[in-house]
Amino acid sequence: MTGSVAGLPVIWHADCLRHEPAGEVWLGVWEEGTEVPERATVLLDALRSAGAAVTDAEPHGLDAILAVHDGELIEHLATIWRRWEAGGYPADYGRTRVVPYVFPTAGLLGGLPLRPAAAVHGEVGAFCYDTMTLIGPGSWEAIKAAADAALTAAGLVAAGQRVAYALCRPPGHHASRASYGGSCYLNNAAIAAAALRSCGADRVAVIDIDAHHGNGTQAIFYDRADVCYASVHVDPGAGWFPHYVGHADERGSGEGEGANLNVPLAPGTGDDGWLEGVSALSALARRRGADAIVVSLAVDAAAADPESPLQVSADGYRRAGELIGALGPVVAVQEGGYDLPSLGGLVVATLAGILAAG
Ligand SMILES: [Zn+2]
Repeated sequence: MTGSVAGLPVIWHADCLRHEPAGEVWLGVWEEGTEVPERATVLLDALRSAGAAVTDAEPHGLDAILAVHDGELIEHLATIWRRWEAGGYPADYGRTRVVPYVFPTAGLLGGLPLRPAAAVHGEVGAFCYDTMTLIGPGSWEAIKAAADAALTAAGLVAAGQRVAYALCRPPGHHASRASYGGSCYLNNAAIAAAALRSCGADRVAVIDIDAHHGNGTQAIFYDRADVCYASVHVDPGAGWFPHYVGHADERGSGEGEGANLNVPLAPGTGDDGWLEGVSALSALARRRGADAIVVSLAVDAAAADPESPLQVSADGYRRAGELIGALGPVVAVQEGGYDLPSLGGLVVATLAGILAAG
């Protein structure tokens, strides 16, 4: 029994299915990948069966996206496939997806300023920081539709709805202001948080329960006092993505000092330890006086998930939902979760918990 989500607004757009990364290049080998379109259809079926009210995302202009992303990133994402195709990469060279191969790290630049690469295949690494976040023919349409879903859900909550859920695909929390990676392109949760701020919320808390640290969301709000970010995730210090950030001593900077909270967990941590982490995130949201919540809702900390070693149960997700739902109005934004047989039930359980707390 996972609880009821009857009547819950689920915001969705069919364009989210058009992103077909066709796998990922991981450690030099092209693999099948887990961020597949079926994730969205499985979720949609489960939510419909549980009585949720599925409605279409409304198209939005780029202004709300520009609140958290650089225009150059948006331009890159919107045009790179067309330019990749025009350059003959798929037809002439068998490169069926956009994949970076050189990255302008501090070591490459040697202190010199970053200048644009002339070649399309040189440009990609200036925006994409890994080799597993590929772009194909319908990717931009899906990326934009996911952001529109987050914005539509934020609009509903700003207008008085207590809970709205955006079925975003691709996910977003690894995308930062000017770069993308980790199967994420635009940061849907950050876009929703900024929209809530511009609609009148004084303080917003982003609660991230994805099994991986949301490095993108952290980076976007790191020096801000008005949007706090709190994440429970598998410890990057134990060897997990995103490897370089997500440690407990990252607390925010400048005006954002104290508004960032990371709770890294050891591999194998189950419900009890994970829920203690979620409680700590909730406590930060209360301390910061958040009057609206964005939850980066993911279920890849589940025992059956192929992408993390945490061992959270459906009951754990429901209880996490209750903790989060007690904090205030909630925009829930879909992030990770990759085990197709259990994905739907786990998301329904989380949302049922959020609704039950109201
Ligand atoms: Zn994840």
